[in-house]
Amino acid sequence: MQKANKTIQKDCVRPLLKWYRTHARDLPWRRTHDPYAIWISEIMLQQTQVTTVIPYWERWMKEIPTIQALAEASEQTILKLWEGLGYYRRARMLHKAAKMTCDRYQGNFPQDHETILSLPGIGPYTAGAIASIAFDQPKPILDGNVIRVLTRYYSIKSNPKDRETQNQLWGLADHWVHQADLMRPRTAGNCSHLNQSIMELGATICLPGNLAQCNKCPLSKTCGANMTSQVANLPNLPKRRAVVQQQRFVYVLKYNDRYLMQQKGTDEHNEGLWEFYNTDSPVIMSPEEALQFCLETLQKKGIQVSTFSILTTIKHTITHHRITLHCFEGSLTEKPSSQLADGKWVTIKTLKAHPMPSAHQKLRSIILG
Ligand code: SF4
Repeated sequence: MQKANKTIQKDCVRPLLKWYRTHARDLPWRRTHDPYAIWISEIMLQQTQVTTVIPYWERWMKEIPTIQALAEASEQTILKLWEGLGYYRRARMLHKAAKMTCDRYQGNFPQDHETILSLPGIGPYTAGAIASIAFDQPKPILDGNVIRVLTRYYSIKSNPKDRETQNQLWGLADHWVHQADLMRPRTAGNCSHLNQSIMELGATICLPGNLAQCNKCPLSKTCGANMTSQVANLPNLPKRRAVVQQQRFVYVLKYNDRYLMQQKGTDEHNEGLWEFYNTDSPVIMSPEEALQFCLETLQKKGIQVSTFSILTTIKHTITHHRITLHCFEGSLTEKPSSQLADGKWVTIKTLKAHPMPSAHQKLRSIILG
């Protein structure tokens, strides 16, 4: 399957490196070789669009410019800087890995691929990205963009999520980056640029479905899918899981100009973040039905409210879950004791200082006007 080395260099590596020199987007983390800065960008870019990540990365690097600073930062500071990016486990793992790096490697980011891979929150993709981009090592990367380019280039029709196909794709990615390393004359940055060029091609040219712009692609003359008109059919990904509808109730409860907040506990979704009091919905309801249900729930708990009304409805998606949040606001006539004991009453002034998941941030914005 693998083409001869010279052919790969001529057909793929050289055209990609040349294309990358003139077409790479000017992204802030591409102006540095600092492994810490590259690591932060790679973790932020998981599941998140480049345009969303840029301001987050810039703010992060300003506030926490070194791995030592990250190790010493509080979890609340980190979560606050991550607020809105979602998948908060990524931020907690960064914190853990920074502490480990300071303890074991005196704060020097390890250069060895196996050691990078041993850090919390770093999988094969991220380890390959850091080793190749920061240290110019011939280590492969395989993410959704690279999978799309390789399956199309080699007309691989099997499901790329299957283990055998995954192994094949890692092997191909490894082969390409090694050929970049073996190019003579060897230019500094060959491995870094080769890997980034494949990702860049997948992100900007080799787009999903029939959005691919093969006429602009440096691989078009030798790409299997392009030559056999199979571009839109590859990669052959499994069908998406059926969508599951869910509802939750959010109670924005106010007492004496303070709002009731709860911090998510260890191993809970959104661990460490703050949310307005919320509960699961037993069945799918309209906002009006939900209002009545929630009012009765408060009454059953002995919580007396002087006002209780619909605040807003928020819809959001997490993987295949479509979640509707029915949000209500109420003013309490007296501070409840045990029923909501695990909560904290937060003044409107300090609401902003609490890191919150996106939906609750929206509610905070409504409250703060
Ligand atoms: S020729 Fe088309 S399908 Fe092939 S790698 Fe380029 S953009 Fe993707």
